[in-house]
Amino acid sequence: MVRRPVVKKEYSLGERVYLVEIAKGLGLTWKHFVFNVKASFRKGPHTVPTCWQYPEDRREIAPIFRGAHMLQLNDKGQELCVGCGMCARACPAKCITVKRGKPAKGEEDKYAGKTMCVSFEIDILRCIFCGLCEKSCPKNALVLGQDYELADYEPEHCIYDKDRLIANFHRARSEGLLKPPPVPIPVEAPPAKKKIAQKGDEKKGSSGKASVKGGKKSASNRKGEA
Ligand code: SF4
Ligand code: SF4
Repeated sequence: MVRRPVVKKEYSLGERVYLVEIAKGLGLTWKHFVFNVKASFRKGPHTVPTCWQYPEDRREIAPIFRGAHMLQLNDKGQELCVGCGMCARACPAKCITVKRGKPAKGEEDKYAGKTMCVSFEIDILRCIFCGLCEKSCPKNALVLGQDYELADYEPEHCIYDKDRLIANFHRARSEGLLKPPPVPIPVEAPPAKKKIAQKGDEKKGSSGKASVKGGKKSASNRKGEA
């Protein structure tokens, strides 16, 4: 067993008289107290410097934040989702279930497309909020909003059905938190088929010449080598 050397600390007179150290500690406490009182008069919702007073104080959320999902309606109040299932196929967590159907007679005006989703469910407990479902939706119907308070006591409540997803949309709209529609990326039209065929013929011709030239070159090279 290795014995540790005994180190005796030498205390100064100021340290031995405890009152000096107590005064130093009180001075530090007073300094922080004055700093906090000054900070509480600062303008803005975040007045206390040490922490944000959640839920009263909330930070601004980035527009690209991906929170709770919603199913959007158009300006006429029609459901945009056509039940194509592209979002379910793109989802890496396999947490979306969509059933497609046709609107009942007399209810066609409720839907923007000829088909609609009869049921739509997202299991939020499995979702990783990657946003691939939003990106893959051809109708901009499924969008991830800015709501991040998704905790619940019951796992069943974490499966969002169609009604809840539409309710999320109405709430986001009333709070002015809807995302702007995505800007389409310009895509150049491919060249006409005839032109491609012509180019192909030209290439064939040029490649033929090249092969002849290549043959000549190789022959002359062989002569040089000889
Ligand atoms: S955000 Fe990602 S994991 Fe969640 S439902 Fe959409 S695709 Fe699936
Ligand atoms: S949300 Fe979009 S991708 Fe998903 S089923 Fe509806 S239309 Fe298709």
